[in-house]
Amino acid sequence: MANNDIAIEVRDLRVHFPAGNKDKPVRALDGVNLSVDRGSFHAIVGESGCGKTTLARTIVGLQTATSGSVSINNHALTDLMQDRKSLAKKMQFVFQNPLGALSRRQSVFQSLEEPLLIHRTGNKTARRKRILQLLDYVGLPASSLERLPRSLSGGQRQRVAIARALALEPQILVCDEPLSALDVSIQAQIVKLFIDLQQDLGLTIVMISHDLAVVREMCTRVTVMYLGKVVEAGDTDTIFKNAAHPYTRVLLASVPSPDPRIEAKRQRIILDGDPPSPMDPPSGCHFHTRCPVAMDICRFKIPELELRKSNSWSACHIVEGS
Ligand code: SF4
Repeated sequence: MANNDIAIEVRDLRVHFPAGNKDKPVRALDGVNLSVDRGSFHAIVGESGCGKTTLARTIVGLQTATSGSVSINNHALTDLMQDRKSLAKKMQFVFQNPLGALSRRQSVFQSLEEPLLIHRTGNKTARRKRILQLLDYVGLPASSLERLPRSLSGGQRQRVAIARALALEPQILVCDEPLSALDVSIQAQIVKLFIDLQQDLGLTIVMISHDLAVVREMCTRVTVMYLGKVVEAGDTDTIFKNAAHPYTRVLLASVPSPDPRIEAKRQRIILDGDPPSPMDPPSGCHFHTRCPVAMDICRFKIPELELRKSNSWSACHIVEGS
């Protein structure tokens, strides 16, 4: 039965890329399940190479799945992609580098007007009004309209890219590390912008990030990935206060706490080595080669993602009590 509270549903999603050895493809996604609640701010986190960017690109249709399914508002993505214009009105992608979304030769006005023209939205007066509204949403002055991307700062460019993504009034934004190309001082401004937009416009936002301090501040839900699989998912408070999965605990141990008392007691946990190759993932639990508490069973039995406590799922044999 359709669940209208779910904006994005991903089921057993696999994306395998061909590699030199055709029997050993790169398993960028290896059976991912994910539910994104409507109106939530959902982070997907993990080390570089864990598959989080591939997941984001597959959700918006920029990457083809090898198998599995993605549904948007209870409709199969494969069906929605038959009408890309209609899909663009539902969901937009915000790139890590804003220049990926902006033409170097187009002024801010032209960049913001282009999606409205493609979708035949309003007359010239209505379009200008909408563009001024978009600039207002993202905190840019009307005097920016005639500027070219090269004359804008990195933060201003990302604001224009976000305004362009909002032009068609999508319900869902999928953002791939939208802060990582920005100076730390500008990041705080864009964090506030995302929080304001999500609350004021009721957007569903999926944000790929490696910055857990930012995730704790912005996001209501977190999904943790390791080597193409989801290892833990749940609401942000539960995961940050009481993570169940050993890998999540390692990630969180690297995040400074804003509370000096907690920070003084924070235990640093250093992981041995780099993540294994996604062409040849370890048997059993993919994390067993680096897990500080691995057991014999972990080498041959894959742990399932299961509900541990209210609003928290984890894939680990220890919390299964095996
Ligand atoms: Fe560690 Fe085993 Fe849990 Fe994997 S299943 S995280 S190896 S304890």
